[in-house]
Amino acid sequence: MRYAKIRKMDVSNGPGIRVSLFVQGCTFNCKNCFNPETHDFNGGEEFTAETLQELLKLCEKDFIVGLSILGGEPMHPKNIKEVTLIAKKFKEKFPHKDLWIWTGFLYENLREQEIMNYLDVLVDGQYVDELHDFTLQWRGSANQRVIDIKQSQMKNKLILLETQAK
Ligand code: SF4
Repeated sequence: MRYAKIRKMDVSNGPGIRVSLFVQGCTFNCKNCFNPETHDFNGGEEFTAETLQELLKLCEKDFIVGLSILGGEPMHPKNIKEVTLIAKKFKEKFPHKDLWIWTGFLYENLREQEIMNYLDVLVDGQYVDELHDFTLQWRGSANQRVIDIKQSQMKNKLILLETQAK
């Protein structure tokens, strides 16, 4: 897998101060995508075993409350295996820190994937420019959902994160 960048301290993508990983490669091509430089699967840099160790090291800091994985498309078939490994290692090392992932795919099509065992929150759905709303928290367009994965998997139905539930 390749990745576009790592942010050591991110306060925009999820609650609190977080580490963010932007993976490389996406085929959705949403109109006015916020991150078009991440579409090319050959762009960015190789995500190696050393990169994983560096990422986990950044997450060790006490003020870091969690890891956010964005894209690009973390759940694309070319990326999901590596992202699942990152998620597993992160949760093994930091069971009390949270893991958020943003994807253009829908939860209903991902719920059987191994990665769901390690996820706390999934923000799903493609970005739809016509539904863009500045006031939305942690998502760009109104069709996207901020999903509480632990609750959804436990109760076997989609449960939105409390802050998004109306
Ligand atoms: S899924 Fe995300 S990265 Fe891919 S085109 Fe849409 S907004 Fe851009």
